[in-house]
Amino acid sequence: MKADIEQIGWIGCDPQAGGALDTGLDRARYGEKAHWLSRAAALGLPVPRAFVLPGGTVRRLAEALDGGQAEEAHALLDRAIGRLEAASGRRLGDPERPLLLSLRPSAAGGGAAAPAILNIGMAEATLPAIEAEHGARTAQDLYRRLIQSYGAGALGVEGEDFEYALYDKLKDDGIDGETELGAGQLAELAAAFLALIEADGEGAFPQDARGQVAGAIAAMARAWDAPRARTRRLAKDLAEDAPLALIVQEMVMGLGPEPSGAGIARLRSELTGETGLSGRYLAQAQGEEALMGLRTPLLLTRAEQTPSGPPERTLEEAAPGVTARLAEIGERLEQELGDAFVMHFTLAGGALSLLELAPARRAPRAAIRIAVELAEKGAITRDEAMMRIDPAFLEDHLHPSIDPAAKRDVIALGLPASPGAAAGELVFSPDAAEAAAAAGRPAILALIETGPEDIRGMHAARGVLTVRGGMTSHAAVVARGLGRPCVCGAKGLVLDRARGVLAAADGREFHAGSVVTVVGSDGQVLAGAAATVEPEITGAFARLLEWADAARRLGVRANADTAQDAAVARGFNAEGIGLCRTEHMFFKRGRILPMREMIMAEDAESRRAALARLRTMQKGDFVELFHEMAGLPVVIRLLDPPLHEFLPHGDDELSEMAETLDVPLQRIRERAEELAEFNPMLGKRGCRIGIAFPEIYAMQAHAILEAACDAGERTGEPVVPEIMIPLVSAVRELEVLARVIGEAADEVRAAQGGMVDYTIGVMIETPRACLRGGDFAAASDFLSFGTNDLTQMVYGLSRDDVGRFMPDYVSQGIYDHDPFHSLDVVGVGEMMQIATERARAARPGITIGLCGEHGADPASVDFCEHAGFTYVSCSPYRVPIARLAAAQAAIRARREAGPDE
Ligand code: PEP
Ligand code: MG
Repeated sequence: MKADIEQIGWIGCDPQAGGALDTGLDRARYGEKAHWLSRAAALGLPVPRAFVLPGGTVRRLAEALDGGQAEEAHALLDRAIGRLEAASGRRLGDPERPLLLSLRPSAAGGGAAAPAILNIGMAEATLPAIEAEHGARTAQDLYRRLIQSYGAGALGVEGEDFEYALYDKLKDDGIDGETELGAGQLAELAAAFLALIEADGEGAFPQDARGQVAGAIAAMARAWDAPRARTRRLAKDLAEDAPLALIVQEMVMGLGPEPSGAGIARLRSELTGETGLSGRYLAQAQGEEALMGLRTPLLLTRAEQTPSGPPERTLEEAAPGVTARLAEIGERLEQELGDAFVMHFTLAGGALSLLELAPARRAPRAAIRIAVELAEKGAITRDEAMMRIDPAFLEDHLHPSIDPAAKRDVIALGLPASPGAAAGELVFSPDAAEAAAAAGRPAILALIETGPEDIRGMHAARGVLTVRGGMTSHAAVVARGLGRPCVCGAKGLVLDRARGVLAAADGREFHAGSVVTVVGSDGQVLAGAAATVEPEITGAFARLLEWADAARRLGVRANADTAQDAAVARGFNAEGIGLCRTEHMFFKRGRILPMREMIMAEDAESRRAALARLRTMQKGDFVELFHEMAGLPVVIRLLDPPLHEFLPHGDDELSEMAETLDVPLQRIRERAEELAEFNPMLGKRGCRIGIAFPEIYAMQAHAILEAACDAGERTGEPVVPEIMIPLVSAVRELEVLARVIGEAADEVRAAQGGMVDYTIGVMIETPRACLRGGDFAAASDFLSFGTNDLTQMVYGLSRDDVGRFMPDYVSQGIYDHDPFHSLDVVGVGEMMQIATERARAARPGITIGLCGEHGADPASVDFCEHAGFTYVSCSPYRVPIARLAAAQAAIRARREAGPDE
């Protein structure tokens, strides 16, 4: 315990144990709050003097105090408090010039702890001196507040019991609010509180100030280690036995001559990240009372007033110098400490102090803007700005908004709880939302408010609307997490669930199925489907992605099957198409018929006729695709699914097909039976179709190469298609199919009389293809890992059936995550590494990509960076996420390699 004195950290005092001035107290040892406060103090900002007991010391102190070695503990505290006393010229418990203290928890990595205990040192003995210094009323108020917070925090009295005692006092004395209580009444209240402790508490209120400090420390340590607190930490993914450091800070009152009070301030909007001071301030208050709703606090600035609402009072008007200073401090903190903060401040007779400081909470959009602007003003590096953004945050920018030219028929105004705009039919239950989604109809889920049981419905709906609830209501928080546009607390709307009617204030009624639009970005609810526009990448978002493009090594392509998908992908700066699944073209309206004719063909001639029709259609699609991609690389995969997927299933549909094709129903049934497989995922699919029906692959090769010639001529940019063969396992498959494609190329060359250039690659989707990676690399131009199938095959898990057991596997910790969402780096990843090493040994510069669903998952992208792949490919809307994830992976790799690399 003696050695512990050396471990104590200091804020705003001379002894600087625990951290250099410029780096502040180490956050792992002294917790977040102490870290930031110490850095603010080192900048010369008005932070009260304090010492910080690191987690280990707090534990030892608490054990000593509980375990009969209280003397040692007191000796340590006396030495630390002695330094504060020396610096302040006051003494704890001194009847002449008493020092008052507050005790604040400071956990590493955050984590909720007990509230601060304020005004430690107030006691019968010190009352007269405080009365002389601050007036009788203030002194009595400080005293009763300490009894209240110590009673609740350290002696186990229910906080509510004090509130009721206060309420009774106000009622008995006929007084409206606690600020109107006089000194005598406050003294009576203190006596009532003491009586409460005597009756209900687990001990007496200590009149000895040192005993108060020790008791408060022991109580906070106990609360932190209580099973409930440990479980709460576990639920939040924090370490169960994380240490709790404690800050013992000189008290700044918040009570006394005006302006005195407490508040919180932030310089940036939590929602947008825009600069502008905001917050709340309550006169004659301490701690977080401004947020507790006991009395109506002031806004900080006029800019925060709602334009249409009644004027609210502001601190800016009451004390303009204070808000200007807060804004200045906020700027300084950003510049020097490189983040946007929320500041807990106190005014004592106009003098401003920062009592607590923490990085401000922010919505994804705000996080991007703050990081980019901090980097632009040089407060952090661009790399740091990129590393701070969870790539999933970008989703927020990737939602449609209302077309500015669209007419808005506003039926209600609520809170802009989650950005984006969505239109759909009204549904009033999660089940109805799911049913609509299953039928492919966009839905807006409208509820009074939401709870955990509504999450699946929120997931299924395009947008969410609640009649009640604020910006941090369940609906708002969950919708933001899910990326669903959401309007909360829509005023004037009345929801009658029993009748299934949503009534607007103007008398209009909307029933289940009526179409409405929620504009989550500005809180409007509109009648009908308002036209939306696709997101534009501008401002901070665009800048962040420009930096990401400059920082990344990995290429980012898109999985796009149509020219429309390709246009979206280009809008998001995809560098090419990494996977065009050609089968999707056959499901377009009017396409399925020739496909079915081809499948039903009895002889080569009728098959050729059907294929010729398909070829014309496919060629048209490819021309559009190449045209859109204007010379950028395009990987086209030849047919992959088993043929039975193109046949109808139900009896009615089979009969309809028989009629349309003029083929006996019995024949169709027989063909469907011939094609049926026990395990189609591992059956006749992928290149096995090409081997069995080379004419299908030949048709596709023709269509691709003819389209490439046409598009090349039209755009003036030569198109070199990259033809990809799926699901290979033996190199002989590649050789046979390369010949089929080569013959098609010869025919196209002969017909076109010009250059027909292309490359051939394979999808590595089977374990055997990984092991034979060298053979495949030697015989092809590129490899692309199809990690959906590869995960299925390496695990032996059916990708279509995992939903039945994956949730159990993940919740029981059998797998740490679903390997179909984030690559299983140690298993599937090892197979990929083997394939890559063997491929590179055979052909060092070979292009290697990944085109499974993992292409925009940050952890999987990180794997691809380390494995030295050429590109990742993902769905068009996720391209920006992959760009940032690739940049982060490159930055991480550079940092790991060290400064000289
Ligand atoms: C894959 O298997 O990873 C892949 C991209 O192909 P598909 O999902 O079409 O099987
Ligand atoms: Mg596949």
